Amino acid sequence: MGLKIVRNYINEEWVDSSSSSLLDVMDPASGEVLARVPLSTRSEVDDAVQAAQEAFWEWRTTPPLTRARYFFRLKEVLEENFEELSRITTREAGKTLDESRGELRRAIEMVEVACGIPTMMMGQNLEDIASGIDCVATRQPLGVFAAITPYNFPTMVPFWFWPFAVACGNTYIVKPSEQDPLTQQFIFELLDEEIGFPPGVINLVNGGQESVEALLEHPQVKGISFVGSSKVARIVYQKCGETGKRVQSLGGAKNFLVVMPDANLDATVGAIILSAFGCAGQRCLAGSTIITVGDIYEPFKHRLLEAARKMTVGHGLDEKVQMGPVISAVHKQRVLNYIEQGVAEGAKLLLDGRGIIVEGGEKGFFIGPTIFDQVNPDMVIAQEEIFGPVLGLTPVDSLDEAISIIQKNNYGNATCIFTSSGKSAREFTYRAECSMMGINIGIAAPMAFFPFGGTKDSFFGDIKGHGSEIVDFFTDRKVIISRWL
Ligand code: NAD
Repeated sequence: MGLKIVRNYINEEWVDSSSSSLLDVMDPASGEVLARVPLSTRSEVDDAVQAAQEAFWEWRTTPPLTRARYFFRLKEVLEENFEELSRITTREAGKTLDESRGELRRAIEMVEVACGIPTMMMGQNLEDIASGIDCVATRQPLGVFAAITPYNFPTMVPFWFWPFAVACGNTYIVKPSEQDPLTQQFIFELLDEEIGFPPGVINLVNGGQESVEALLEHPQVKGISFVGSSKVARIVYQKCGETGKRVQSLGGAKNFLVVMPDANLDATVGAIILSAFGCAGQRCLAGSTIITVGDIYEPFKHRLLEAARKMTVGHGLDEKVQMGPVISAVHKQRVLNYIEQGVAEGAKLLLDGRGIIVEGGEKGFFIGPTIFDQVNPDMVIAQEEIFGPVLGLTPVDSLDEAISIIQKNNYGNATCIFTSSGKSAREFTYRAECSMMGINIGIAAPMAFFPFGGTKDSFFGDIKGHGSEIVDFFTDRKVIISRWL
């Protein structure tokens, strides 16, 4: 039998792309080709937009309570398929089963919160804004929206947006990463077979740059939610400005974790290992540089090294494995180049993950936990996003110095402090310019009922992902002033 070719889902039908450009979808732990994904054409994107546009009016006039019921059912279906979905994600993205389960749990939480749309969408009113005149502000859906998402959370990231958009009465197109499209393929099979949204309400288009450009330029697309690297996030933001679309564009990250002298060493080391090496460092919330303050540096370094050396690296389907591979051979090379660069810049390589041998994973894209010491904030490895299991250590003398390093970095996605002092924690959260903050937490994770996104080069736009504010992104606030004579 030939390899499965991933399909598009448009207007409640599975359609084969006519594109002759196909990419391999690989298991990054074994190098095995799992399927092939088409890079859909402009006209296929247009088919999806037309279907979504045609579906809009009827869906928009469906009562919010009825719309919400689709999501109550979706939650059940995702729970019923929890293990199978997690395994698909592990196969195509390389993360451990627990990491796949974790991202699916977050996705389900988005669905749970979207079930509350009848309340979340409520407007405001005031009687007698002038004598006998009343005013109502109501929220109305706008039309077709789309999400363009990255490879590192193939389950969760589309769910940051579409359940809210569709529950608000919009129609939708998901364009997943071409590197791992199989999770969304399975989710759309579930939507098709078990949920039955009306035709055109939710569509799937697989592809790369051409599909993205077609969405960004399409006059009937009202808004775009993008998540990916800062380079592309900036392009998406600029393009949506030109074409007059709503946009929220989440970019890359360089996250600093500050360890104060009064931190609880055991808890801190455990949290930092998970933050830096979880998902093989391919999280936009991954700790990338540790700034130790004062004399905790030596004992912390010792404990960190000890814990990192003990990590089990391998195929994520093996429950004992703590860290999987990076996504592709190309990405592995990119991370290796950064390690070379760190060595060339004079950082001290304490733990070198380059030569790791994983039994049975000789064709996989593995890099072991890697730790640099004496990382100077001016070095490239301290400034750029590496997006792999590479951690730098920068010792400083004061919290002021730590905050100033964070301030000088171009990214502003996340940062964390480990301390037992409320005063230090307050000072840090007050001054450091990053949007997601952890206090004695290594990963300030996306919570469905709060907003999510960064600042500086990590985010372009104003309304962030999920949380109650996302209703503002997906609706127009119409103000109606009335006088009845
Ligand atoms: P990427 O920018 O390469 O790709 C993201 C999406 O953009 C994909 O769907 C891809 O098909 C599309 N794309 C790629 N190049 C394009 C181009 N030139 N023009 C138009 N579209 C293009 O990102 P990635 O490698 O898939 O994901 C990793 C990046 O995503 C990291 O930088 C990571 O920090 C970031 N990320 C950020 C967040 C966040 O919340 N801020 C969350 C997850 C990942």
